[in-house]
Amino acid sequence: MNIHEYQAKALLRDFGAPVSDGRVVTRAEDAKTAAGELDGPLWVVKAQIHAGGRGKGSFKEADAGEKGGVRLAKSVEEAAEETKKMLGRTLVTHQSGPAGKQVNRVYIEDGSPIARELYLALLVDRQSSRISFVCSTEGGMDIEEVAASTPEKILSFDVDPATGYHPYHGRRIAFALGLEGQQVKQCVRLMGIFYKAFVEKDMEQLEINPLIVTEGGDLKVLDAKLGFDSNALYRHPDVAQLRDETEEDPKELEASKYDLNYIALDGEIGCMVNGAGLAMATMDIIKLYGAEPANFLDVGGGATKEKVTEAFKIITSDENVKGILVNIFGGIMRCDVIAEGVVAAVKEVGLKVPLVVRLEGTNVEKGKEIINTSGLDVIAADDLKDGAEKIVKAVKG
Ligand code: GDP
Ligand code: MN
Repeated sequence: MNIHEYQAKALLRDFGAPVSDGRVVTRAEDAKTAAGELDGPLWVVKAQIHAGGRGKGSFKEADAGEKGGVRLAKSVEEAAEETKKMLGRTLVTHQSGPAGKQVNRVYIEDGSPIARELYLALLVDRQSSRISFVCSTEGGMDIEEVAASTPEKILSFDVDPATGYHPYHGRRIAFALGLEGQQVKQCVRLMGIFYKAFVEKDMEQLEINPLIVTEGGDLKVLDAKLGFDSNALYRHPDVAQLRDETEEDPKELEASKYDLNYIALDGEIGCMVNGAGLAMATMDIIKLYGAEPANFLDVGGGATKEKVTEAFKIITSDENVKGILVNIFGGIMRCDVIAEGVVAAVKEVGLKVPLVVRLEGTNVEKGKEIINTSGLDVIAADDLKDGAEKIVKAVKG
């Protein structure tokens, strides 16, 4: 689960990290008062969406102006003016997808004078199975470009979970970032704060880009992107309540209500599969036959007919879906339950695209009989390969 920049900064502030003072604004008429509460002489007006690259983004609506989703203002009036231009408009960035994201909140922040922009992140390194600090002297808006063209400028430092964070980690990062004197001390303290926050709150990602050195020579968190492990959210009600459902894919949101493992993708073939491994294999084989999956969906082992019905409804609600492949290898999941769910869903929402069903395993005969006597126009498949070939052929001709 991701949260907004302003929420991330409030959380990091509670752990003791240096962040600027700021105000969240949801209505344009509140902007002047909010900006007036900050010192100036520089204000930064920042669109709050769950996508990075806001500074380099652009708005779909002409009346939002030419600038991106991060704007500097030299007066309270100017800050209010920029807020008004952004609220309710659609910001497109390299992470938002072409449809962009509607800006429902703007964060007005006390502007900082910048001497250097650095990059700092914490993540779980799958290779070393450790939490890793990733840093670069080349922070700011082009980190993707740095990673592509000069990857040697991005350094990482693992932390042994048995010993945890120690000041020497912070010192190594400080030297890698070219920090000196007081800044080294600040860095050691700040990295300790990040590590503590990351572990205590069960984060998956903590990205500070940029971490700045101010003109006064101090370190400061200028942007913050935090991601949390959804499986651990039950331990953190304070974090869970920061969830902004308007930022999430409506189909994924619906799926999460039914505890379905669903991830929306860009392709044209909807997939309903049991088991994450089989779901991955199904997506792979669809690609192999020249089409793209519209989603990942693992209905799980103990799914009920109702759950299968909801899953099917979510798949068909995606207007990119031009065909559906149901691929069930019934072990714990019973084929007749899947069949009943599919039939019930089709009766409720109708079937406007080709449907290929491959059933195998527990209660397969019963499942096939339910499908065959349902009167539905279903293409039967014998195995994974056959199923993939048939659905791609049905969609692509
Ligand atoms: P992003 O584009 O979504 O990553 O948004 P950021 O919060 O990282 O802001 C983008 C850029 O705006 C930063 O890299 C800075 O160059 C600039 N910026 C943001 N806040 C300030 C500020 O307080 N002062 C100044 N001078 N520039 C800022
Ligand atoms: Mn940034």
